[in-house]
Amino acid sequence: MQYNVAQLLKEPIGSTRSYQLDEALSGVDRFADHISGSVELLKTHEGVFVDAKVDVDAFLICGRCLSEYPLNLSLIIEEECFPTVDIDTGSSMSAPDGSEGVLIDESHTLDLSEVVRQYLITNSPMKPLCRAECGGLCQNCGVNLNLQECQCGKPAIDPRWGELAGLLLQEQD
Ligand SMILES: [Zn+2]
Ligand SMILES: [Zn+2]
Repeated sequence: MQYNVAQLLKEPIGSTRSYQLDEALSGVDRFADHISGSVELLKTHEGVFVDAKVDVDAFLICGRCLSEYPLNLSLIIEEECFPTVDIDTGSSMSAPDGSEGVLIDESHTLDLSEVVRQYLITNSPMKPLCRAECGGLCQNCGVNLNLQECQCGKPAIDPRWGELAGLLLQEQD
């Protein structure tokens, strides 16, 4: 997800570049797996505007049963990116005051990995659940209740019955 925008920065405002994305998302987020979609770069007065529509295959950890489950996230990324060096003179530049855009590095490379990572964080559920009716883990024995039933909820033999059984046995003697 690195784009060299040197040529685009030299072009008139309104010039565009389109790219298709279909790649592994290694190193972006440990739970993100694959990204696909389209990226459009638009030359603006100040820099480059990114307009991307991507689908990310990710894995989340269920907050109840602690197992991994797959999640497909569709992200619409719209970010203005600013150069750190002037494309014509090579002198360093700072982003316009008050802007919070992404920076294009000294070699005119626009790296979208960090942007995607941020969007993934803000678009992932705060309390991930593998499914609405997830049974979770037994608080007592730790068994994953989606996979098996545990014995904790079942009442043990009533101690009074135990006593009675003892009496019956004595009577039989
Ligand atoms: Zn779960
Ligand atoms: Zn249990």
